[in-house]
Amino acid sequence: MSVPYLGLDVGGTKILAVVVDAHGRIERRAKVSSRREEGAEAVFARIVELARAMIDRSPEIAAIGAGFAGLVDPTTGTVRSSIMLSGWDGFPLAARLAEAAGRPTFVHNDAKAAGWGEYRALGSPHGLHMVVLAVGTGIGGAFILDGRLYLGAAGLAGEVGNTTIEREGPVCWCGNRGCLNMLASGSALAEHASRAAALDSQSTLHGAGAALTVEAIAAAARRGDILAARVIEDGAAALGAGIANVVNMLNPHRVALTGGVVELGETFFDRVRAEVRARAFAEIVEGLVIAPSTLGYETGAYGAACLAADAWKANHGRGDRRRAPHALGRQTDAAS
Ligand SMILES: [Zn+2]
Repeated sequence: MSVPYLGLDVGGTKILAVVVDAHGRIERRAKVSSRREEGAEAVFARIVELARAMIDRSPEIAAIGAGFAGLVDPTTGTVRSSIMLSGWDGFPLAARLAEAAGRPTFVHNDAKAAGWGEYRALGSPHGLHMVVLAVGTGIGGAFILDGRLYLGAAGLAGEVGNTTIEREGPVCWCGNRGCLNMLASGSALAEHASRAAALDSQSTLHGAGAALTVEAIAAAARRGDILAARVIEDGAAALGAGIANVVNMLNPHRVALTGGVVELGETFFDRVRAEVRARAFAEIVEGLVIAPSTLGYETGAYGAACLAADAWKANHGRGDRRRAPHALGRQTDAAS
């Protein structure tokens, strides 16, 4: 990167921004609430305000990359649909943001941006096969296969959170039953804990209502709350089952986890690893690393900046296309 790039991570709860400098280091960061209940235009206005504030302080920013929590057409940067933020179906995010912020803009699914961010943060290991799961409000996924971000036929690959774990399980936001989302996401853990705590006067979470967070559940488990520990245990087991499915399919070197579940700590990771070992082929689990992502909650915004840098360089004839095979984002300039 010879010039800085702006990376944005647009989620159901927060919008994160990072400016990534010429050496791939994060030189500035900022965060605002999404307030998704106010609708797409209001959230978009906050994205624009945040992007402009970052560009005001770093006017040399060459391009913007954004990861968005939904299905995104990476060639046009238009949101196809989102189960996390309502009212965004068909929203031309890349075109609108390029126009409003005056920089070429590239938009991807948020988890795929995180996948690429983790790959770059690891030093872009040659030939790496990696699954990255962003376990936050929902569960997003990305596949890095042979050092490339796998997009699929329409750019929509990686929906690990919407794979079936319980055939007759609860109905997911996507309409399917028993998705991993409903069993292991941060919102699923919060809902399970709230429901169980309402019936258990022994729990320190009793009376907490629906306002529980993953952090609050983790804190309760640390102080010995049995109910909280059981909710985390169940979530870890479900996540481990989901990961076992994916590793049996793809035989990756590494599974990296990012998002709120990372807060649950090493006990949680050990439980996830045990479940994967119990369900997947021993030969496939042998040598498999399951670890938190290198950059934590900034992985997605960092990856979005890296994707923008790759696409911008490819469009300007200065990119190494072997290193940026996925850089198919059509440049969306304010002028075009
Ligand atoms: Zn689903």
